[in-house]
Amino acid sequence: MTIYVIAEHDNKKLKPSTLNTVSAAKKYSSHSQADIQILIFGKGCTEAANEAAKVANVTKICVADDSRFEHQLPEAIAPEIMSLVASGDVVMAPASTFGKNITPRVAALLNQAQISDVIEIVDGKTFVRPIYAGNALETVESSCEIHVMTIRTTAFDAAKTGGKAPIEVLALSDESNQMLSSFVSQKISKQDRPELTEARVVVSGGRGLKNAENFKIIEALADILNAGIGASRAAVDAGFVPNDYQVGQTGKIVAPDLYIAVGISGAIQHVAGMKESKVIVAINKDADAPIFQVADYGLCDDLFDAVPRLTALLEG
Ligand code: FAD
Repeated sequence: MTIYVIAEHDNKKLKPSTLNTVSAAKKYSSHSQADIQILIFGKGCTEAANEAAKVANVTKICVADDSRFEHQLPEAIAPEIMSLVASGDVVMAPASTFGKNITPRVAALLNQAQISDVIEIVDGKTFVRPIYAGNALETVESSCEIHVMTIRTTAFDAAKTGGKAPIEVLALSDESNQMLSSFVSQKISKQDRPELTEARVVVSGGRGLKNAENFKIIEALADILNAGIGASRAAVDAGFVPNDYQVGQTGKIVAPDLYIAVGISGAIQHVAGMKESKVIVAINKDADAPIFQVADYGLCDDLFDAVPRLTALLEG
């Protein structure tokens, strides 16, 4: 019995989400004695494979290094996974944009139900996952022969290094070469700041900022703290910042050491994306704003006074 972890990487480095997913696999294996293998699909991905080999508690790294996997399209990756797995095996990927793109196709091809956003592994077939934007936790018992899961990465610590897993080259099937889809282009927003889902500190702004120009005060605070920048959906919809800043149910899920919510009311859909943060600070002029219910520290003040003052204090 094997747990296959589909690695998220950029050919050079593993994304931290892969390490969280390996920890979930380790938890699963403590119930089932399964071995853990990491699957690397990419082009020119030797460095990522070498890094994966150092992850603790992994039995083997399987590498598919070929131009058909350059853009990690599900139509290419899913058939390879399908030909690898057998009854009783498990396929895991992070519940990130990457993992959510791959696993539904894998589950469908295997004729299995996907188990999404797993936050706890109770035993070999019982899992806990949030529903209703995290307002309820559902315990599901799966009767599938092969469990295909996405893992909520904020619920599992990163796996440690210190392993020495052998690297094996995957024999490729013809199906993955059928070019059912092709890559056209991608626009990646480049920032000097830490990536939102990986940052230790996140400063997020909401509709209270009033316009895009005012987001500069969020940027100034984020610069001092070496923080990632997030936003509420209202701020994104109003065009203050790009889409990929959105934190929440339909945005990114973050769990930094420190989350500072500025001019954000604390709607459940926003809170669903940040409530696992270790320390939450809220700055809002409305004392009744629901964000104060989840905040560890709340400052009831006008953000246009409070944030520049806080930034100046930290600078000084
Ligand atoms: P508002 O609710 O308008 O709050 C603005 C806050 O700023 C207020 O609390 C106000 O007191 C404060 N404020 C105003 N001026 C100042 C000032 N000068 N100083 C200090 N404070 C000030 N939302 C998300 O964020 N992420 C999601 O992923 C998401 N997904 C959704 C999915 C669905 C299906 C639906 C229906 C909604 C979703 N939403 C999401 C939207 C969510 O319901 C809220 O509408 C949104 O989060 C509100 O954003 P906000 O807090 O910035 O704005």
